Amino acid sequence: LVPDSAFSLDEEQARYLTRVMRLNIGDAARVFNGRDGEWRAEITDIAGRRVEMTPVEKLREQAGQGALPLTLLFAPVKKSETDFIVEKATELGAAIIQPVITERTQTRTVRLDRFQKIALEAAEQTERLDLPEVVDALSLDAALAALPDGTALIFCDEAGDETDAPWGGQAGRAGPMAGVLEGVKGRAAAILIGPEGGFSPAERTFLRGRPETYPVSLGPRILRAETAAVSAMTLWQAICGD
Ligand code: SAM
Repeated sequence: LVPDSAFSLDEEQARYLTRVMRLNIGDAARVFNGRDGEWRAEITDIAGRRVEMTPVEKLREQAGQGALPLTLLFAPVKKSETDFIVEKATELGAAIIQPVITERTQTRTVRLDRFQKIALEAAEQTERLDLPEVVDALSLDAALAALPDGTALIFCDEAGDETDAPWGGQAGRAGPMAGVLEGVKGRAAAILIGPEGGFSPAERTFLRGRPETYPVSLGPRILRAETAAVSAMTLWQAICGD
């Protein structure tokens, strides 16, 4: 990622181009700045740890802002698994990556700078031209209150309960995700994934009673949070993605 249109690379990017890629003045590389698209740019100056580049050819325009925004709301889990969730959410096109602190969330510290770096590296690897917005942790209530009106909340609920499924699924269990997604196509969506300990009964009752909220099942087995996050986002992309 080129931090600004002046195409002056930061130290780490400069080191990568000159030491790892072994590029020199006059060599070209593909660069993007997360706002306006992708260019082929040539190295014009290498001074110590600084590298200057100049755009030569526009390769890709930034994707239209019309793309349906997908927000991932997830309870942080153990470090490497949370890193994995941030990386896969970036690859799978999430626009916003929002850690949420639920009653049973064990890991309450969120390394925002670390997540943003992981998202940047994943965006470069997956050749995304836009960067997901990785935001600081919020309580579940605050995160839900921050969702834009009309956002369909896809609540990944691993447990059934005795209430009938008002959304047409079998009584007790949440409806199969694919069926629910067909009904929310064309709408901005947020996917909610709980912590290792799952959602508390109080959270589940609140969520199941919340408007615009669609409890979904990802199958009869209990998935790890990171497995559930990837499965849910992949399904959303396949059925609702642009
Ligand atoms: N403590 C829970 C239990 O043992 O029943 C497991 C929680 S699971 C590790 C973490 C999160 O992944 C859940 O809160 C839920 O959001 C999601 N998840 C896991 N399996 C799921 C399934 N079969 N259907 C829907 N969501 C699931």
